[in-house]
Amino acid sequence: MNPSSDQQIIVIGAGVGGLSAAIRLARQGQRVLVLEARAQAGGLASGVVAGGFTFDAGPYILLDKPGLEWAFAHLGIADGTLPLTPIEHVYHVLHEDGQTTAFDRSLADTAAGFEARHPGSGARYQAFVAKTGAVHRNVQPLTYHSHPGVLDVLRHGALGSVPFMLSSLGGVLEKSGLPAPVRAGIGIWTHIAGQPMSQAPAPMAFVPSLFHGVGAYLPRGGMRAVAELLTATAVAAGVEFRYETPVAGIMAPRGRATGVRTAAGEVLPARAVLSDASGIGTYVNLVEDFPEPAKTKLRALPLQSPGTCVYLAVRGRRPPYYVRFKLRGTGCTAFVQPGLLDPGLAQDGWFPARLISPLPHPEAARLGPEGQHRLMDEQLAEPWWREGLEDYRVLHRRTTFEWGREYHLYRDSMNPVMTAQLMRQGRLAHRSPTVRNLYLTGSSTHPGQWVSFCAIAGILAADCLLHDHPAHA
Ligand SMILES: Cc1cc2nc3c(=O)[nH]c(=O)nc-3n(C[C@H](O)[C@H](O)[C@H](O)COP(=O)(O)OP(=O)(O)OC[C@H]3O[C@@H](n4cnc5c(N)ncnc54)[C@H](O)[C@@H]3O)c2cc1C
Repeated sequence: MNPSSDQQIIVIGAGVGGLSAAIRLARQGQRVLVLEARAQAGGLASGVVAGGFTFDAGPYILLDKPGLEWAFAHLGIADGTLPLTPIEHVYHVLHEDGQTTAFDRSLADTAAGFEARHPGSGARYQAFVAKTGAVHRNVQPLTYHSHPGVLDVLRHGALGSVPFMLSSLGGVLEKSGLPAPVRAGIGIWTHIAGQPMSQAPAPMAFVPSLFHGVGAYLPRGGMRAVAELLTATAVAAGVEFRYETPVAGIMAPRGRATGVRTAAGEVLPARAVLSDASGIGTYVNLVEDFPEPAKTKLRALPLQSPGTCVYLAVRGRRPPYYVRFKLRGTGCTAFVQPGLLDPGLAQDGWFPARLISPLPHPEAARLGPEGQHRLMDEQLAEPWWREGLEDYRVLHRRTTFEWGREYHLYRDSMNPVMTAQLMRQGRLAHRSPTVRNLYLTGSSTHPGQWVSFCAIAGILAADCLLHDHPAHA
């Protein structure tokens, strides 16, 4: 049977979330049309070419290998299809008072480094990693449920981990008894969200147990290789793509999605609509006649900015850490060197590198384009990231406004900030609670914003849709 066009599923956006959802749906016999505003798939996880080098546009590290493997297994992608390079010297933090902390794949080496500076802290760090690792193993299966409830928690025997999960990262670190620089080093991933540790969710404390345990990785071919693999898999699964086709509206008469309206004015009927565009943006800007009070509530959620990014070519003897952070209050700057993991990226002795500066969303708006360029100039003039380098060239720069324009972001943001409060309430639901036949995926939705989580979210959203709309026999 060849279903008519209103029997198709429309996926808005070909980011990691949309691609994963599209593959899952197509594999279950659905006819899937992906409408992507850009000329290529991958969204923030795609590549960008500057000065003859290809860079990852956004993501630079895979911290959740098990999550990505779970997603690949559920998308029919064979184990080992994407070769991963392990990262031995994971990150190094330069604190504001000049102290440093370094985190290696080896737990023993990392703990020994802390012990040398802060006697007693080595054993405490090992105990912290063991404890958070045990909690992580306990709650990880819940990541694979769309909005896990009390029954899921009981079924997985995770009740004992609930108090931990309900606390904040700040609370967990406070209890660890670790010295302040080590705590700040562990919490670096919340500084990326420009978040105080007291508001960050406790699961951020799992990160050390992940990279000391299963390891942190860079896929061969960069993080963009994840999106490239998903795109090729989607095409092979029969997913149809239309690029340069921004969606301007989701038709939802009487609270039921019936199709989309493209920016060019074309009306495309659909059995159901699954959006990988920003969750907030989907409701606020796309769903037609969405009630104003509900929009107001969504607009009030704090947003996470992609920050600024300088794409560089560097030359010289570089210190070994893959990511080097400089802390600045509750924020930081990251210097990332993929060339340390893949010498094949060199061109005449020059390697690609990036200077990434997360910015709180209000601060990014306040600075404006000129202020953000000034900030990038100031950071380029700082000596810390150039340690051991003979020379560098700036190939490209991006302000938050350019991220917003180029990746069709809602108010130049990636997603709502994952606060401890939002974690308790749950992110935006995969199955819309207010619009029938509308499903959401991607970084705004449970379980979160890492590339692995976006792939998991695609599968969970697709499964909600498949439950409500089984494929025709
Ligand atoms: C600087 C930076 C560093 C990061 N670092 C890491 C990291 O190290 N590790 C990690 O795991 N993650 C990292 N991330 C996060 C990760 O890249 C993102 O969370 C993830 O790629 C988002 O995928 P997505 O599918 O939710 O959305 P997106 O990638 O935003 O994709 C959405 C797609 O929808 C399209 N779209 C939007 N609106 C419309 C519309 N109206 N019509 C049609 N198409 C539309 C967009 O063009 C886009 O292609 C980083 C992100 C950034 C920006």
